[in-house]
Amino acid sequence: MQKYSTKDFDRDFPNDDACLEWLFKARYPDGVFCANCRKITKHYRIKNRPVYSCDLCGNHIYPMSGTIFQSTKFNHLRLWFKAIAYMAVTRCGISSRQLSRDLGVTVKTGWRMWTEIRRALSEGNAIKFLGHVEIDETYIGGKKSGKRGRGSENKTVVLGIVECNGRARGIVVPDVKAKTLLPAIEANVLKDATVYTDDLHSYDKLSSLGFDHKVVAHSQKVYVTAGDIHTNCVEGFWSQLKRSVDGTYHHVTAKHLQGYVDEYSFRYNHRKDEQPMFVTMLEKVARHSS
Ligand SMILES: [Zn+2]
Repeated sequence: MQKYSTKDFDRDFPNDDACLEWLFKARYPDGVFCANCRKITKHYRIKNRPVYSCDLCGNHIYPMSGTIFQSTKFNHLRLWFKAIAYMAVTRCGISSRQLSRDLGVTVKTGWRMWTEIRRALSEGNAIKFLGHVEIDETYIGGKKSGKRGRGSENKTVVLGIVECNGRARGIVVPDVKAKTLLPAIEANVLKDATVYTDDLHSYDKLSSLGFDHKVVAHSQKVYVTAGDIHTNCVEGFWSQLKRSVDGTYHHVTAKHLQGYVDEYSFRYNHRKDEQPMFVTMLEKVARHSS
């Protein structure tokens, strides 16, 4: 993945106008369809305002509206772009307090920007997973008892779904009961997929739900069995996620863990992109509708 320095940022986004121009092009890559003229028309920028106007009828377009920037003053647009650049710089992200310090804004403002940007990075479950899909549950945060089940009251459960050599998604769930895990799996995985899990009983009904279900007997310490029955992919996802949580956020509350997992999953899903993470994040934020 290419690096993106502050020099690159200053060159590409020297002012709010340049940011608005980028946003306009990102949101209307094929030109603007004017609702009045009923066709794609040329639009020009109105000076000193975050507005573009149809060349034929004068109809106005606001590139910031409908995005996370919509309630932001135009002269803060570059600050938001900068926030995304700071968040993209490290592999595991930064805390909201760090962001506030980097931007020189109040803790409250930094927190709001950080939360909004993360929300826009969430990939939702619009695209279901298929192929070789590994599913596992883990406990994050709280006391480090490392125990599964009862010894883990202070920890939050995350259900991980990973397409081997593909995408990953983490879902914060209240418990590991079948009635919790199975609907979450059905909402995120196509029935054509071959799903690999450990031998937790909550997964027992996956076959009767129509999935091709393979079980890896973790409780017997058989981590790799014959053929390609393994859960190495989801374990890779967990180890990086946990390292990242430990490194950046010492106390992730259950309430904020989903946002963290979403940001992490986004990075994971774009880890093989050639373009800088900043550009990938900026494009995602521009496409996200608020
Ligand atoms: Zn028009």
